Amino acid sequence: MNPVGMLLIAGLGTGLVLIWFFLFKKTKTPAMKPFLPVWREYLTKEVQFYRNLSSDERLQFESRIQSFLQAVIITGVGTDINDIDRLLVATSAVIPVFHFSNWTRYPNLDEVLIYPNAFREGDYATQGEDRNVLGMVGWGPMNRKIIFSRPSLHRGFEQEGLTNTGIHEFIHLIDKADGATDGVPEYLLEKQYVLPWIQLIYQEIEAIRSGKSDIPPYGATNQTEFFAVAGTYFFQQPHRFASEHPELFQMLEDIFNSTLNKHQK
Ligand SMILES: [Zn+2]
Repeated sequence: MNPVGMLLIAGLGTGLVLIWFFLFKKTKTPAMKPFLPVWREYLTKEVQFYRNLSSDERLQFESRIQSFLQAVIITGVGTDINDIDRLLVATSAVIPVFHFSNWTRYPNLDEVLIYPNAFREGDYATQGEDRNVLGMVGWGPMNRKIIFSRPSLHRGFEQEGLTNTGIHEFIHLIDKADGATDGVPEYLLEKQYVLPWIQLIYQEIEAIRSGKSDIPPYGATNQTEFFAVAGTYFFQQPHRFASEHPELFQMLEDIFNSTLNKHQK
């Protein structure tokens, strides 16, 4: 065979190998990781939402955790991450949508980035001055990503206070799913409830500003933050929220379709 023929055959061979490689790569789905005993231990110890579920619901919760981890990439940036970090991201993602039985995945999320500490808005620097962001839903080049400060992600579960950075950011993502991050999750709220919801937000923001509410002050920033802050409190301390804010509790129950009442002790 002449050299040109040999080159053609070699080229064709390489092309076929490459085509096979990409086809194979595209169709390969990662195997579902088993639910780790250390995850169950952590959830039982640290996550009140999980403890309040029935045993059947706990299994569903665990299966939703696994589906989330299969669909979304979690990357440590300048920090090593472990199985508990992954669990906390997935737990924050599953809690707010747990009662939506037809919610299979976040349509607007591909990747979660975990930073070693608080970062600066704008350039995401993790060193230097003015680093006060603990978590955010990305936009622009960071669209379809969420970023967390690792210690803050842990603190939300370990302190079981009124705030939780993980849940907070995923509520923003739910809010964003209808196209506008505006504190009004239109597709979860039937049309006739939109106006009463906005009125309730402004009434509560006023109460926070005049010191008559235990909703964390950051909730008074605007209606977007109000939804994330009040929603997080609702999931973190449901019984206290129900007694302090009965009207708001009912509205958030309608929004998140919670079955909390079935499990009240
Ligand atoms: Zn926020």
